[in-house]
Amino acid sequence: MTTPIRRTKIVATIGPASESPEVLDKLIEAGVNVVRLNFSHGTPEEHRQRAENVRAAAKKHGVIVGVLADMQGPKIRIGKYKTGKTFLEPGQKYIIDGALGLDDGDDERVGLTYKELIDDVEPGARLLLNDGLIVMDVDQVTGQEIHCSVVVGGVLSNNKGINRAGGGLSAAALTEKDKEDIKTACAIGIDYVAISFPRNGADMEYARSLVRAEGSNAGLVAKVERAEAVEPENLKSIMEASDAVMVARGDLGVEVGDAAVPPIQKRMLRMAPKFNCPVIVATQMMESMCDNPIPTRAEVNDVANAVLDGTDAVMLSGESAAGKYPVEAVEAMHRTCIETEKQKVMPSASTRGPRFPPLTVDECIARQAIETAHMMPIKAIAAFTQSGNTTLYMSRHLGDVPIYALTPEKSTLGRVSLFRNVIPKSIDHTYTSDTDAPRATREVIDVMKRDGLVEVGDLIVMTLGTPMGQAGATNTMKVVEVEE
Ligand code: PGA
Ligand code: MN
Repeated sequence: MTTPIRRTKIVATIGPASESPEVLDKLIEAGVNVVRLNFSHGTPEEHRQRAENVRAAAKKHGVIVGVLADMQGPKIRIGKYKTGKTFLEPGQKYIIDGALGLDDGDDERVGLTYKELIDDVEPGARLLLNDGLIVMDVDQVTGQEIHCSVVVGGVLSNNKGINRAGGGLSAAALTEKDKEDIKTACAIGIDYVAISFPRNGADMEYARSLVRAEGSNAGLVAKVERAEAVEPENLKSIMEASDAVMVARGDLGVEVGDAAVPPIQKRMLRMAPKFNCPVIVATQMMESMCDNPIPTRAEVNDVANAVLDGTDAVMLSGESAAGKYPVEAVEAMHRTCIETEKQKVMPSASTRGPRFPPLTVDECIARQAIETAHMMPIKAIAAFTQSGNTTLYMSRHLGDVPIYALTPEKSTLGRVSLFRNVIPKSIDHTYTSDTDAPRATREVIDVMKRDGLVEVGDLIVMTLGTPMGQAGATNTMKVVEVEE
């Protein structure tokens, strides 16, 4: 019995609970496709070490694991308390004070890391602290002080985040720290850089220019987590300018309200294929597994629904970074995906599906490959690809015949690990001429036979571009029978 192929990819955040070689080994065995390094925590050296450990573990298992570096972005935080925390009663007055020292918070006031917040709020604005657990309304703004009334109280402790309900904060998406961290990440050699709190496509283009300036061709992931970012025009420009989007439900839910998140998630999953933009659904997917070895029924449902809506990947944050059961959380996601994928998730062209008509030659070839694979007993699709784009286009169709991305490009292997139903496969040669096509076909079939993916007599669909060796040049599809 071969283990079934899981189409949906699993992204797992690495942290104290999972950074040891032993746990990484088990995470990769359990099927993690992409690891996330969270630059909100940890030093450059720690990130470098984690990436190295991940690569060593992946090599040991003979699999490809992509690496995503997640930038902290302009997360606005309060300062620290002299006593570590304060207790807020509903109705009491409280001051967020830009002039106060960052370590000098007390029961009356607390400092602020982002002084510009003062210019962004006016009486009547609602502030949400600690992921929305504490709620305050702004009464007045005087000088550097934001005077508030507590609406929902509780314990407020050091460095908790602040969001504004409804969004509207002017903070630029990339901070000085992010710019330094992008350099670190590119030096580590990651496959994706995730940008926090982008407002629109221009923020993503700017981030891309910083990544390219480091000589990296990493993909750019937009974390959609600001109220402004889900306005139709902004979301469209973000999807156009990004190599993937993340439904970052934590901060997003704080800004737009928890009940608004599910329809936004569904809208993003419907829209993204039109922009050839993969989607990662993130945050609290298996939250209870921070403490428990099994998920709740609601969590299983949440993962299953994302799969049914055609997400490329589901993500673990605290569950794998700092929880008690990182490996079990990956296993729970794995079995949920496998079971859910048994349902045929064929796209209905009018609701969810790739853009039509396709606009480029390689998109057309990708579409034909998928259609052919569904009309004949095709065992696998093998795409000879430089950039991975042909497999990206193929995987937008939600077919269930596995798509192998065969590439000599190291960076492409990591990139395609995020795409739904695409399996990266390294090949040795770079082919460069028309006459190389038969040799390339032979090598592809040999690699797939060697790895037990196909047998003599199987039919496979192959795509390639002639002349070979150019990105974006896929112009050929053929059906090949595997021979001795
Ligand atoms: P974070 O992003 O975990 O870096 O805040 C994800 C989210 O906000 O959901
Ligand atoms: Mn966030």
